[in-house]
Parts: sequence; structure tokens; C-alpha cells
Amino acid sequence: MGTKIPVAQKRMFHDVFVCKKCNKKIRSQSVRVVTGKVKCPRCGGRALRPVRKK
Ligand SMILES: [Zn+2]
Repeated sequence: MGTKIPVAQKRMFHDVFVCKKCNKKIRSQSVRVVTGKVKCPRCGGRALRPVRKK
């Protein structure tokens, strides 16, 4: 309903993933996450989910 999302905010949530184990936010391209090239820097886990999903 006419809700404007600032470009900066949109970019913030784009390509941002959250570690399922420790909830650390990780910025990476979704392609890399899907292919399993990204792992959490904190716990080393590869279980990531998109941050947009609530
Ligand atoms: Zn983690």
C-alpha cells in the first residue's frame, strides 16, 4: 500500500543470510550460499537462511 522502502535498506537485506546456529548475519551472494561456499565465521556452520524470511 504505497510503502516505500529506501534503497539503502533494501540493499541491507539483499544477500544477507543468518546462521541457523548462532544467528550471526553474513553478507554474501545467494549463489555462493546455495553452492555451500559460505560458512559462518563465528561457528563455522554452513546452515544459513535468508534474513528476509521471518
Ligand atoms: Zn554461526
